[in-house]
Amino acid sequence: MNNHSQKWALARSLGRRAFFQAALGTAVVGVGSAVQEDEPGRERNCQSYRESLETPIVARHQVVVAGGGPSGVIAAVAAARSGADTLLLERYGFLGGNGTAGLMTCYNGFRNQRPPEALQTVKGIPAEYIAELVRLGGVADSTNYELTLPHDVRRGDLPYAIPFDAEVAKVASLHLVKKEGVKLRLHSWVVAPMLDSTRVTGVIVESKSGRQAIAADIVIDCTGDGDVAAAFGAPFMSPATSGDRMAMTLMYRLGGSPSTVKGSFDGVRKGDQVVRWGPAVDGDGLNVETLTEAEVHARLEIWDEIQVMQRKSGMGSLYLALTATVIGVRETRRIAGEYVVTERDATEGRRFPDVVAISSNPFPDYHGRRYFLRHEGFDIPYRSLVPKRVGGLVLSGRCISCDQAPFQSARSMAPAMAVGHASGCAAALAATHGIPPRELDVKILQKLLVSQKAELRL
Ligand SMILES: Cc1cc2nc3c(=O)[nH]c(=O)nc-3n(C[C@H](O)[C@H](O)[C@H](O)COP(=O)(O)OP(=O)(O)OC[C@H]3O[C@@H](n4cnc5c(N)ncnc54)[C@H](O)[C@@H]3O)c2cc1C
Repeated sequence: MNNHSQKWALARSLGRRAFFQAALGTAVVGVGSAVQEDEPGRERNCQSYRESLETPIVARHQVVVAGGGPSGVIAAVAAARSGADTLLLERYGFLGGNGTAGLMTCYNGFRNQRPPEALQTVKGIPAEYIAELVRLGGVADSTNYELTLPHDVRRGDLPYAIPFDAEVAKVASLHLVKKEGVKLRLHSWVVAPMLDSTRVTGVIVESKSGRQAIAADIVIDCTGDGDVAAAFGAPFMSPATSGDRMAMTLMYRLGGSPSTVKGSFDGVRKGDQVVRWGPAVDGDGLNVETLTEAEVHARLEIWDEIQVMQRKSGMGSLYLALTATVIGVRETRRIAGEYVVTERDATEGRRFPDVVAISSNPFPDYHGRRYFLRHEGFDIPYRSLVPKRVGGLVLSGRCISCDQAPFQSARSMAPAMAVGHASGCAAALAATHGIPPRELDVKILQKLLVSQKAELRL
């Protein structure tokens, strides 16, 4: 086991003890002490603080969605529309995930970027979300993107990519969840699952209101990093430790772009504002020290870069309008599910009888180069949304069970939304019929998804 895996094994074992205490109510209330840990494999002089917790259960819902990014928003809407009392939890004060907090303002992967591109693979509730974005005037200038076919975006006929305005995306997401009756709890970090033996029965959240428990029949992990599944101890795959982990990037918005500069200005342009890629930083996006260093480095570098740009002829009007709330982390855990989508499945465009979503996006960083699929898309089977060993939990978004190559395709926001649609419907069926996600009849799930206009090629 390398250092990295050892750290995670340790974190998981420490975490689990606290979960058991919280779930079983066996904790001694209010007493904490600095103790010498004396477990096998631990250094004797390693100090830790033993917490004793009894956590109030403040709410109960049929479906709890952890994380309000592109996948979580669609999952919550799908679960509510499918009849489940649904709560959406998000750590920030707004929705949209990396599209808004990370300022990554281009939804990619509604269809293949290059021929064959006849099939729009992401439809259904994600397309309704885009329609709301369009209605609010939230689509950015489209000249930035390769559009080989004319598309009628207003009618849900979507091109490969939709560049957008992050502020409008926040509002469109709120409109969607409110309209569907999804309950919302912002400013809430999901820190642990509640458990009953091997089944998740809810989540523990930390917020300004303190540490609280929220009971659920089914939890959907839409945290991007697979925080809930990993905290439970679900097995997961990490990015390659050397060479092949996708870098983190801090996005920023440049204001005052001179009208003499035509086109995209190397980013997503809307009027005189352009969202651009800041410096790429390597490292583990699950390590707080690495994240801190990455934020500091990227923020200072962007500032310096803009000072240089401003000094160029005709560029004096440029200014730093905004940096993303948080550096964008592309790649962390992929949770091991009942099926792991392989590189071959993705490159050959494999079809599965239990398909619940399709990814047609290229692999943007496939062995260091962009790889375009030579088919309309590969299937994402329901089994890759069902984590191994853990019950009561459905995976969604970029933490689903797949190899690194298919991950690079399906992590894009359009396929992540399609997976969210599937996970939301699955969780609602499981919760409302009292069936474990693992035992769900996929034909019924597919019928529900198709009735909500998802594309499954059935
Ligand atoms: C720099 C960069 C550039 C990219 N470029 C593109 C692009 O051009 N086009 C494209 O389509 N995709 C792009 N991607 C990929 C894409 O943005 C993500 O893979 C996608 O957003 C994943 O969706 P998600 O819903 O699974 O996760 P996220 O978007 O990460 O959303 C997860 C949500 O959960 C919340 N959350 C996380 N942990 C917790 C917790 N413990 N408790 C409560 N809430 C929590 C987060 O705040 C967030 O709102 C890029 C990614 C990066 C980093």
